[in-house]
Amino acid sequence: MTIKAYRKKRQFSKTPEPIGRRTKSKRTLRFVVQKHHASNLHYDFRLELEGVLKSWAIPKGPSLNPSEKRLAVQVEDHPIEYSTFEGNIPDGEYGAGSVIVWDTGTWKIQDEGNIENGKIKFTLRGEKLKGHWTLIRMGSDINSKNWLLIKEADKYASTENILAIAPNSVKSGISLEALSLQSRIQKLSRKRK
Ligand code: MN
Repeated sequence: MTIKAYRKKRQFSKTPEPIGRRTKSKRTLRFVVQKHHASNLHYDFRLELEGVLKSWAIPKGPSLNPSEKRLAVQVEDHPIEYSTFEGNIPDGEYGAGSVIVWDTGTWKIQDEGNIENGKIKFTLRGEKLKGHWTLIRMGSDINSKNWLLIKEADKYASTENILAIAPNSVKSGISLEALSLQSRIQKLSRKRK
């Protein structure tokens, strides 16, 4: 279990995010991309591996264009259950803001590369992200958190802006803006009681 850092940052009595109990990895590995408006809008890219979700925050979001390499900052492993989390993290809590499941599906390692070695080639089978991708750590420092997410040239590569074409949740269809508005309305109605 390597989700200690994840738990330490959160008060589960206050945030609706999962505490994470499952440790066994299923046969089919899941991936998820969560669109998260915390202090800044970003996309959290997570790959299920060895019972946790390996996680990177991508400030600009993934691109289908192989020439647009996107910075992906590795963050703490998240529990498997996080892959379906969509909701509002309360003000004052870690990562406060709204989260939607922007894309999800399964993934497969393509070659012998692995995360420890700083390079992994894989295939995604999501609704929005498909085909071959590479994650590669920047520079020679093995402790560096900075990686690049790159779309490989294949039939799924495109110069279209997938973030703009398909902005909403694949789980509920909701937009991040509508979800955030819902939480503000709930807060207001609680105050009036
Ligand atoms: Mn985030």
